[in-house]
Amino acid sequence: MTQTRCNVLSCVEHERLEFELLEVRTRGQYLTRLRSISREEQAEWDRREQRALASLVDHELEHGCNS
Ligand SMILES: [Zn+2]
Repeated sequence: MTQTRCNVLSCVEHERLEFELLEVRTRGQYLTRLRSISREEQAEWDRREQRALASLVDHELEHGCNS
């Protein structure tokens, strides 16, 4: 199988997506601790996290830069 692999350390896009996911998670957790957020807000943060995670997984599948 000839697949072009990009090194995780040198894949800027992978790093960016990973950072985005981490940021969404951290902010969501922070908000939850800071005050009780509404169910809608919680759902919104869940959606954001899932979107960020999906983007990261999609990128890894396309680039094969997860291994
Ligand atoms: Zn990549």
